[in-house]
Amino acid sequence: MKKRNKTTKRLQILVLALGFVCCGLLAFYVYTSHKTIDITEFYHPYVQVNKEAALYQLNKDEYEEFAKVYPNVTMQLENKDKQDMHTAYFKLKNQDVYVKAEDVKEAAALTKQKMTSRYLPFNETITTNDSYTLKDGDGNALVTMNQKDSYPIYMKNKKTIGVMVNDQLYFIDQKDIKETKQADNTKEEAAKDVPVFMYHYFYSKANGEKAENGNWLEVNDFEDQLKYLKEKGYQTVYMQDLEYFMDGKIRLPKKSVSLTVDDGTKSIYQYAYPLLKKYDMKATLFLIMNKFKDDTLPDTFQEMKENGMELQSHSYAMHTGGCDGGHGGALRCVDLDTGIKDTKKSFSIIGGGFVYCYPYGDVTESALEIMKDSGVRMAFTTNYGKIEPGMDKLQLPRVRIFGESGLSQFIYSLDE
Ligand SMILES: [Zn+2]
Repeated sequence: MKKRNKTTKRLQILVLALGFVCCGLLAFYVYTSHKTIDITEFYHPYVQVNKEAALYQLNKDEYEEFAKVYPNVTMQLENKDKQDMHTAYFKLKNQDVYVKAEDVKEAAALTKQKMTSRYLPFNETITTNDSYTLKDGDGNALVTMNQKDSYPIYMKNKKTIGVMVNDQLYFIDQKDIKETKQADNTKEEAAKDVPVFMYHYFYSKANGEKAENGNWLEVNDFEDQLKYLKEKGYQTVYMQDLEYFMDGKIRLPKKSVSLTVDDGTKSIYQYAYPLLKKYDMKATLFLIMNKFKDDTLPDTFQEMKENGMELQSHSYAMHTGGCDGGHGGALRCVDLDTGIKDTKKSFSIIGGGFVYCYPYGDVTESALEIMKDSGVRMAFTTNYGKIEPGMDKLQLPRVRIFGESGLSQFIYSLDE
């Protein structure tokens, strides 16, 4: 009962005093029932507030309101054994922040997968107005703080600034920001460019398999590359991270790479995926969707998607020949309408997406038109190069991995 809330305490004293005035017995009863207040039955690991409600900080045994939280916010509570169930408040997980037990109801566990990588802060810090609101990426208000705070800038948008709280990006409207100052938020070197590695097929010599051409990579050679990335402290990033990077909205650590695998063959699940998991790396898989039975994503790809692999489009039915010029890919000579339908259909099978990989690496004026009209924001060719801010996002280069070039070639493409 060390941390009993003062308000409750005051209330008890008041009740006690009043009770003595009228009748002692009742007061005694009220006091003891109050004393054994227990909020255990209101406890849930995840909660939301019923309506806009206050958040509290504990200051010398006093719960002081410092913020307002909105009903759409799911909060994780500290484990049951770390809660003092005899206060009227629950403590939030890993924070000295409290919410009143009577204000919350049970919520579903937070399962949303984190689709961002590690960003570096800009060497600029904002100071907010005396009150400001933290929003999520969709612009929903989460918490309004009744205090002035400073934050290193992690993302620069037109109307908002991205800041990091508990390892998660939140957004503050420009109108809530009082000033921005230079600050030494990090000395870590930021990436000027990022290699996007292009893989195709994996095989295993131990299983008696052979490379059919230069696009086949032996599984042990792939492991050597992942091991090297891991040991040297590289992170693999998602396409969304690359888009922000190219738009100059974020800074990525110098040691950032993207791994992409074309064509969506079975060898990804069999050989590459277990290694990616082992080294805690992620990859973007460009799938040819008409290869899937009943236009349905196979369970193996569903599983990879749920475990951090990113799925994007390598077309529905355009991964075939039939046109003149270039590499002869079908996308070269289809009409706009067919191309758009094909692209949109491919994204519907993976359940969304915004990145395209040109079949056969063929890019034409009409292919670019198809991309724009299908809502594609980034598209990859097979041209050689690294990703830099300001590039044409519909004609992005990559670094092709050849089966026969060893680890030293891989390291060279990372460092050059
Ligand atoms: Zn392909």
